[in-house]
Formats: sequence, structure tokens, C-alpha cells
Amino acid sequence: MFYSRFRHVAMNVAADAFWRILGSFGVARILGHSYSLRCVVFHNISPTESPFTAGIRVSITPKTFEAALRFLTAHYVPVSLQDVLTGCNGNGLPPRAILVTFDDAYASVAECAAPLCRQFGVPAVFFVNAAFVDNQRLAPDNLVCYVANVLGMETINAAARAVAGNETLELHSLAEVFGAFLPAISLADREAFLEALRNLSGINESRMAKDASLYLTSKQLCDLTHFDFEIGNHTYTHTHCRSFSQQDLVSEVERNKAELEALSGTKIRSFSQPYGSSKDLTPELAEHLKRSGHQAVFLSESVANPRRPDLFHLDRISTCAESDDTLFFEIEVLPRLRAIRNRLFHNPAPVRAGGAHSSANRQESVDLDEYGNATDRRKRA
Ligand SMILES: [Zn+2]
Repeated sequence: MFYSRFRHVAMNVAADAFWRILGSFGVARILGHSYSLRCVVFHNISPTESPFTAGIRVSITPKTFEAALRFLTAHYVPVSLQDVLTGCNGNGLPPRAILVTFDDAYASVAECAAPLCRQFGVPAVFFVNAAFVDNQRLAPDNLVCYVANVLGMETINAAARAVAGNETLELHSLAEVFGAFLPAISLADREAFLEALRNLSGINESRMAKDASLYLTSKQLCDLTHFDFEIGNHTYTHTHCRSFSQQDLVSEVERNKAELEALSGTKIRSFSQPYGSSKDLTPELAEHLKRSGHQAVFLSESVANPRRPDLFHLDRISTCAESDDTLFFEIEVLPRLRAIRNRLFHNPAPVRAGGAHSSANRQESVDLDEYGNATDRRKRA
């Protein structure tokens, strides 16, 4: 706890110091990694947290988001997905090109983020899980989060033990649920785990989903296709993809693409990996994405994209930064350090700090997930 607080303060100081140095962008370049396309990913833009989101680090306030847009438009060139496709296919990208994306299709992106992006002239891609459009169901992340916040981790553990058949299984945090437990089980076991959670907590999911109205409606989804906005694929039910069968590829990837195209009336050209890990982007999935008409794939490991980015491996920075100096540090400094680490080490130890402020600490065996949360590699199956 003490170390964590110390690290948080130290990273604040480092971010602040970098930002105050005259020509901080030039100083960041001294780190040596040539950095092409910057991509950032946001989730929920909301003035308040709810039990469905507290603890998974998906929310920033409209004020913070507006400040982030002000920073991005002052220091970068916001580009559209089309700019990225043509730029990466040989035409080149403008200096300091940045692509803004949103994952998980929270209603707040239509209500708050899209109008602000329009106001600032910032194009964006919205990655959507069609299963949750119109609020008939809860996304697994929000269901798990709700149960943990309202009933505690003991209910999560009871459901996990029932599915794993392991009475000694002990998950201590939501980061462990999403970073270790869920990636290691099949889609069928994940559904059994979620069903056990619903039963143990007495949740009527369809009623709760309707009352909470967390996600986009069909109408909002359609409206998002105007301006320089685009809809992208994020799997049908927001799942890890590393143990997909051929049938899972059809039910999670193809079905989502087809439903989103029908709902939006536009072509779905890009895919964002749920939870953001390259471990889920298997050769089978990559091949399937290419064959099914996707032209770009986005991860969220917060590593700087190289000079000639691979359209099927575009990394993004998941951020909840609350100040310009932290945002600068998260976009310019830490991704370069991670890229350098990846170049130096064949089997890289992850570079990450928890919370909104990141650090380069190789002694902690932690990774990033889609939300920028630290996850413990040692506990992964
Ligand atoms: Zn997601």
C-alpha cells in the first residue's frame, strides 16, 4: 500500500516534470523510439460512477474529457479511420496523427462524447457489442462489477468456484477476474459463471439492464454514423478470444459485424480486441478478421506504434488521465518505454503502474487490460 502510494506520487512528479520541460515533445523523442500513429481509447464519459462501473476504471467526467480533447487538438492532428487506412497503406500519416476511439458502446458516448468530438472537429471510432444495444442484457463486465460492488467478492468467488470445480479458488479483485480467471475459461464456462452470478445474487438481468440503460440504443447507434464517426466490431458479447473455436468466431465476430452493419447501415471495417491483449489476437482470429472484411485491428496494451504500423496490430492507450501532464506522459513517454522494453527483451516483463498514473517498473509482474488496469501475470492460467 505504501509502495503503491509512493509510486503514484512519484509518477505525478515525473509527469509534471516532463510536461514543464521546455519542448517536452522533443524530450520525449530523445527516448529514441520512432512513434507513428497515436491511438487513445475512452469508455464511459459520465459525471458520476455507478455500481456497474466503479472499480473497473472506465469512466471519466465530461469536464475531464473536454480537457483531453482540448489537449489533443492543441498538440496533435486528429485523424479518421479512413486516414489511418490510407496512411498506413503507403500514403503516410501527418506528424503527430492521433485516432480517438471508444469501446463498449456506453450511452454516454452518444449523449456526451460525440457532441464534444463534433464541437472540437475530432473524428472517432465507436466499438460496439451488438448484444447489449437497446439494453436487453448487461455486459459481463458490468454484471460482475455490480455484484462485486453490491454483494462483495465472496459472491464472485462462489460462482467462480462452482464453475472451476475448485473449492480453494480465491479471486481478490476485479482485475483478477478479468485478467486471470475469465481469459482462462471457455465461452460455455463463462456463460455458466455469469448464470451462477445471476442466481446467487437474485438478479433479473433484463429488468436491471433496462433500468440502468447503460448502453446505446439502435437510434443512437445510427446517429453515430454521421460526421467523421465510424462504428467498429468489439465481439458480440465482449469476450476474451484466445480459446475461440471456429463456431465462436462465427457467433462472436461475424454475427456482431453483420448485426452492426444491419443496425447502422454502414460497413464495419475495424475490430477492437475486448480487454485489449495481444494474447487474444490468435493467428486464427487474425485470419478470420481478414477474411471477413475487417481492415484494421486495435489492441490496448499502450505501446507506441512503430514508424510503419501494422494495420492488424494497432496499439492504443487506455486513459483516464485528469491533467495535461499525465495525459502527455501516458501518450508520449510510457508507450515509448514499453516499446523499447519489448525490443530489448524477447519475453518482456510488462511495464505498468496502476491507476491513472503509470510507471515503468519491471519488478512487478503486471500487464495492462483494456481499461488500463494492472493485471497480475503470475496469476494467469
Ligand atoms: Zn471493451
